[in-house]
Amino acid sequence: MERRLFIKRSGFCGLALTIVPSTLLIQDTKYSIEELMGKEDIELYGDGINLRKEAHDAFVEMKKAALADGIDIKIVSSYRSFDRQAVIFERKYLKYTDDGMEPLDAIDKIIEYSTIPGTSRHHWGTDMDLIDGAPKVDGDVLDASKFSTGGPFEKFKLWMDENSKKFDYYLVYTDDSKRKGFKYEPWHYSYAPLSIPMLKSFRLKNIMKQLEQEDFLGSDHLTTEFVKTYIEDNILDINPELL
Ligand SMILES: [Zn+2]
Repeated sequence: MERRLFIKRSGFCGLALTIVPSTLLIQDTKYSIEELMGKEDIELYGDGINLRKEAHDAFVEMKKAALADGIDIKIVSSYRSFDRQAVIFERKYLKYTDDGMEPLDAIDKIIEYSTIPGTSRHHWGTDMDLIDGAPKVDGDVLDASKFSTGGPFEKFKLWMDENSKKFDYYLVYTDDSKRKGFKYEPWHYSYAPLSIPMLKSFRLKNIMKQLEQEDFLGSDHLTTEFVKTYIEDNILDINPELL
């Protein structure tokens, strides 16, 4: 009887496997949760580039094409490990809570621009923050106003708007007032052929369970409700071309 039940279940599983798109199954096994959370040593390419092979190759081509048009694309940040993201998060957390903010308010402030460790697209080796290396710029280079009309990176932004997609690079946090989550980041680009399947794989993992096990400053305050909203707004409310 039990054996018959087993066979029946196996039969059902077999059916399930045939109706789930095979690409989805391949993608889910291809990227481990550790890899997606920046905890694995992945192979990165290019001196000062640090991207996965395909993303690196496309970036080199894009940089060449931009240079021919007089734009000197410069990387501010590309791959980041979990530990590196934790340092960034903790530094901001300490600063805001020392200034008297409540822990959850401090985390809300941090996630205007920075991610909770383990959830950054920079962990994937597919995303990076880019500017124009040519103009002399005062202060923080990752400032949206510097990319708009009259700003030092206006030319760079116009070139990227026109050309980045030819190299499969897409803006993630677009200038869309209806978009929730991270603010507009005219500098953050993602290599779609890799990052789309990686995001799909990430969605299939139990991120909440993983984050519960983490131990960084502020992690005790991450409730289930908070993380659920964070994933919906900050991880998934992005440029729809990258979903
Ligand atoms: Zn970024």
